[in-house]
Amino acid sequence: MSILEQLKKELRVVANLQGTVALMHWDQETYMPPGGGSARAEQLALIESLAHERLVGDSVRGPLSELVDLETGTPAAGLSDEEQRLVAEIWRDYHRAAALPNEFVREMAQTTSEAQQVWAESRQQNDFGKFAPYLEKIVRLKYREIDYLGKKETPYDTLLDGFEPGMTSAEITRLFDEMKERLVPLVQKIAASEVDTHAEIIQRDYDLEKQWQFGMAVLEDMGYDLQCGRQDESAHPFTINFHPTDVRITTRLERNNLMAGLSSTIHEGGHALYEQGLDPEWFGTPFGQPISYGIHESQSRLWENLIALDKPFWQYYYPRLQALFPENLELVPIEVFYHAINTVKPSLIRVDADEATYNLHIMLRFEIEKMVINDRLPVRELPSIWNDRMESYLGIRPDSDANGVLQDVHWSFGGFGYFPTYALGNLYNVPILERAKKDITDLDDQIADGKLTVLRDWLREHVHAVGRRKTASELIEDLTGQPLTARPFMDYLEAKYTELYAL
Ligand code: ZN
Repeated sequence: MSILEQLKKELRVVANLQGTVALMHWDQETYMPPGGGSARAEQLALIESLAHERLVGDSVRGPLSELVDLETGTPAAGLSDEEQRLVAEIWRDYHRAAALPNEFVREMAQTTSEAQQVWAESRQQNDFGKFAPYLEKIVRLKYREIDYLGKKETPYDTLLDGFEPGMTSAEITRLFDEMKERLVPLVQKIAASEVDTHAEIIQRDYDLEKQWQFGMAVLEDMGYDLQCGRQDESAHPFTINFHPTDVRITTRLERNNLMAGLSSTIHEGGHALYEQGLDPEWFGTPFGQPISYGIHESQSRLWENLIALDKPFWQYYYPRLQALFPENLELVPIEVFYHAINTVKPSLIRVDADEATYNLHIMLRFEIEKMVINDRLPVRELPSIWNDRMESYLGIRPDSDANGVLQDVHWSFGGFGYFPTYALGNLYNVPILERAKKDITDLDDQIADGKLTVLRDWLREHVHAVGRRKTASELIEDLTGQPLTARPFMDYLEAKYTELYAL
């Protein structure tokens, strides 16, 4: 066996341990009885520390040291371009993991597993004080993590790099400023518009069983393989994978909000297609892994917003939806329904936000996270800072912490640096779809015929199966011929909502 093959074999062992961790997480969020919480935290900490030990131990370090300089990451002479790329990416993961002591990894896993459960209770009880000590502990662990990994331009950049390799907060600030300049006036003009979008159509009483049925049908049409996946319900929808042949999603349905469930089903479906589209041949190695969280979000948001909030999609699906809910929709023409699902209105909850105001939620979180990580803002000040910023960004003030600072799960799992990837996904996906439409000139017609897999196949070839052979910026430049800017996304938003709101 060649050294590279030996290394790949060892990385599959690590990936299988990580898959076991993921399976325990999936169970924790779906079917685990509440009493199992603290035992689960210990189980997770154990397996996660075993995975870490294996990744930084001799069995990986040995073969890796023959292929790359362990100090600098420079690949050994005599490797092909592709092999050089592969070992450089493996080294990146190895180097990041090796900087962290094993007891730290264990403590982080245990703390965040407990904190997620406390966060869920605190949110339910609207009690930030209950969650605060856990969050303080996590923030202290994050400071330690940054010390171990080494500070990049700013401490926050170190964390950001874990989600979006190569991205900096300076670059994100530039993109967000570019976006804000056009987004804020757009949202203001929409707010001043007299157009009634009849949003109440979406808030009628929609049977949950039928909602589920409809969502499953769309998932299957998208090409989500149910032999290698399944959908369950959970409080906070997510996608999780143990291998490209087992990629699971969850959703959350609401009787009086048709689009809440459908959007989350399609969103997670987009993530799941990415994971199912990774090349199993390379499982456990960077070539069998997604490029970044931002590219992952580009896939979910592409389906959720660019496809499932557009007319061709509903040309096919609206008659089917009407047949399922005649009592609510029989008398509603498709144009009216299309307006209703594209209502823009500032709201408190990020996951329910429309595609125009959504990015304002992200900008607020980006600002606050930098204050916590770079400026060491005390955790107890978060609720009031949050409420003030919500008021200045969206013009509304949360009525409770449950609808404010406690609404997102991310900080409870230590995900500082994660939020900006959502907005990056929005910026990536517009030029990606533009390129797909150049390659598939009748894509809109195909979608209007319900042939969604045409798009799935294109994405599989040009995005999913690429793995980490390219960085996010290389992928975007290769597909569009240009570096990332906010312009395509803002052009898209302005064109769509100028028509919808007669601006
Ligand atoms: Zn997502």
